Amino acid sequence: MTEPSSDDGSACRRETERVVNEIAQGLRTLDAGEGWFSGLAPTRRQEALQEVAGYAIQAHITAADGRAGVARSGVKPTANPSVMICMEPPRYGFAGLPPAEYAKAFRVLVSVFAVADTRRREMYCKGDCGHAWHNLPVVTEQP
Ligand SMILES: [Zn+2]
Repeated sequence: MTEPSSDDGSACRRETERVVNEIAQGLRTLDAGEGWFSGLAPTRRQEALQEVAGYAIQAHITAADGRAGVARSGVKPTANPSVMICMEPPRYGFAGLPPAEYAKAFRVLVSVFAVADTRRREMYCKGDCGHAWHNLPVVTEQP
């Protein structure tokens, strides 16, 4: 590890968590999220991908979620990240992809997470739960 400051890292993780959940809950568009992602330094992009993959794992995504998420991600079903997430079980080695595929991987992962997390919110949370990430402050999206 060559991370100069752990404070820095945890601030970045909080930001990633917020962005991903805002997209999943319709508070931010996927394109705006990709814009945020593309503005990160390359090492941060890799960390963010690993983090989003962790959320997808926690959300227990299925191959059906993978296909539904890929369909809404705008990424071709034949692209590497799409193929990986639709495997049974899904493969999560996105940080090992070439950097040119990171943005596609981000779109796919966030979209698939959104499918699984929306199901969880609608089936179990019912707008009333203790999950911090389901109770985000309402923000006004910048155009
Ligand atoms: Zn919840």
